[in-house]
Amino acid sequence: MPIVRKRQIETLQQLSGQELEAFIDSLPAGADSISKLLDFVEDELYDKECNHSLRYAMQFMMENGLSFPKVSSWLSENGGYCDCKVLDEIAPYWREKFGDD
Ligand SMILES: [Zn+2]
Repeated sequence: MPIVRKRQIETLQQLSGQELEAFIDSLPAGADSISKLLDFVEDELYDKECNHSLRYAMQFMMENGLSFPKVSSWLSENGGYCDCKVLDEIAPYWREKFGDD
């Protein structure tokens, strides 16, 4: 039986209080920045195809001075290997917890 490690983002819904604070502290950027990154990628992919890279996520990180190595490895660890995966695998969990505006 393969051991499937749960992605951190999948446990987000169950977190509260100190656990939620610890989660937010462990993020590679402010929660606000991550929300904006998700919105930015979604807007860009609205009328463009994902090219199977983190192209738009990277663009957002550069424009907003986020740590590229830290944020991209956090995205990958949570299944966001490219822009469309960021939206499929991370945004739903994130927005369920933090709202989507
Ligand atoms: Zn993709």
